[in-house]
Amino acid sequence: MSSDPIFQLKAALGEAKVLTATDQLQDRRHDYWVVSHIRDRLGAQGQTPACVVRPASVADVQKVVRIATATGTPLIPFGLGSGVVGGIITSPNAILLDMGAMSATRSIDPENLLATFDAGKNGLEAEQEVAARGLTTGHWPQSIEVSSVGGWVATRASGQFSTAYGNIEDLIYAIEAVLPDGSLVTLGKAPRASAGPDLRHILMGSEGTLGVITGVTLSLRRAAEKQAVSAFTAPDMRAGFTFQRDLVQRGWRPPVMRQYDVRESKRLHEAARDCTIIMVHEGPAALVEVERAAAVKLAATMGLAPLPDAIVSHWLGHRNHVAGWDDILNRNIVADTVEISASWDKIAGIYDAATAAVAQIPGCRAASAHSSHVYRSGLNLYFTFAIAKDRPEDLESAYFEAWKQIMTATADGGGSMAHHHGIGRVRRDYMTRELGPEGVALLRALKTALDPIGVMNPGVLIPDA
Ligand SMILES: Cc1cc2nc3c(=O)[nH]c(=O)nc-3n(C[C@H](O)[C@H](O)[C@H](O)COP(=O)(O)OP(=O)(O)OC[C@H]3O[C@@H](n4cnc5c(N)ncnc54)[C@H](O)[C@@H]3O)c2cc1C
Repeated sequence: MSSDPIFQLKAALGEAKVLTATDQLQDRRHDYWVVSHIRDRLGAQGQTPACVVRPASVADVQKVVRIATATGTPLIPFGLGSGVVGGIITSPNAILLDMGAMSATRSIDPENLLATFDAGKNGLEAEQEVAARGLTTGHWPQSIEVSSVGGWVATRASGQFSTAYGNIEDLIYAIEAVLPDGSLVTLGKAPRASAGPDLRHILMGSEGTLGVITGVTLSLRRAAEKQAVSAFTAPDMRAGFTFQRDLVQRGWRPPVMRQYDVRESKRLHEAARDCTIIMVHEGPAALVEVERAAAVKLAATMGLAPLPDAIVSHWLGHRNHVAGWDDILNRNIVADTVEISASWDKIAGIYDAATAAVAQIPGCRAASAHSSHVYRSGLNLYFTFAIAKDRPEDLESAYFEAWKQIMTATADGGGSMAHHHGIGRVRRDYMTRELGPEGVALLRALKTALDPIGVMNPGVLIPDA
């Protein structure tokens, strides 16, 4: 047998599943990371993979993984390419594993509230199929239309309704994956187990570095009987945080709780002069009524004025619209969002420090934030920055400077540097500050044990030794 991986892939899977035409390779060169788009526009990132493989079954994935490992060929899993942290950048010797053809719904089980999907299943299609049975996944990332169920697991994603329903780790029942040696594992078969460490967590957030996720079983919910909304204005971020903390610590759980600083509030309603808090309440009708009333009462007690429900309805209707990068890059502006999290006592300090530091970067046009995922012990912040430069060549360094300021303010302030987009390439060098040198060593030990020659998505997640 030839040692050429492409020859071996074609022999094992058939020619039709191994793509080598230039346009097919170009299409899947990278994910949605803005840096890859900047480099594309400068003609600085022209590398395509050696081939794109589109497996149709778990057995196909096993064959691909075994060939990659046997030939020492880098293997890069690709869900739907909506990742925003540089988790996918191809090189000329790599195999790109496009999971898009593995998109079946394997089962929907209304009795046990479970649904099993192939990993390449489009997120919105998964939601629509369970919605047709009166059910919901409860997972609504803004990218639901352009991301895959397997990608959600690989990046440890969060949805907009997470405050009540949880993040992907709370919604997963079972994960099926092919490990770098080609073996198949299925982890999870009951609502809970006390059978040693929960091995599903090794794959959640693994970003293609520890294996290929081939199937996912989600724990569903019945569709909510009723939905209601509420909105309030707060004089500053601290007052808003205090309100959110008190509401959640009293035991209320609106699925959506978001707080925007003044700058971002103006995007929700132009007349905004203060911070804005919006909430969506969902569930049994009686509970929704009581929760909304409790939120209104608490806000009044704390001196937060109510805002029209229409602000929330407008957000609900437009929440998944995002302009493409070209709009801003054409104006020589680089922008991005950076999500972090921290406990209640630390979050305001991180907000102040990060926005002040980014505002100092020459050309800064915007440094703002909102929160969107609330916990009993703290919440996340989602920073947005926009920086203008005279020359497109200077956008990339401005971008990394803004990230550095936010990462440093978060780490110095005692927060976690990644809430839900993952690590990819942009956060890799900050992993030692996040996990400590011992934590990084543990991650490396795991990687070496599972993937000793390092074929799975090299360059991502784990910092160089
Ligand atoms: C407009 C926009 C809005 C977004 N909103 C949100 C949001 O609300 N919440 C959120 O959490 N994220 C959000 N994201 C980020 C992104 O959509 C998520 O990270 C998503 O989970 C990625 O899924 P994907 O299928 O597109 O993965 P890809 O981009 O294809 O891959 C992401 C990473 O996972 C790996 N991977 C993908 N599939 C597999 C697999 N089957 N097995 C092993 N590894 C795999 C890849 O190698 C890569 O490292 C947003 C992105 C955009 C562009």
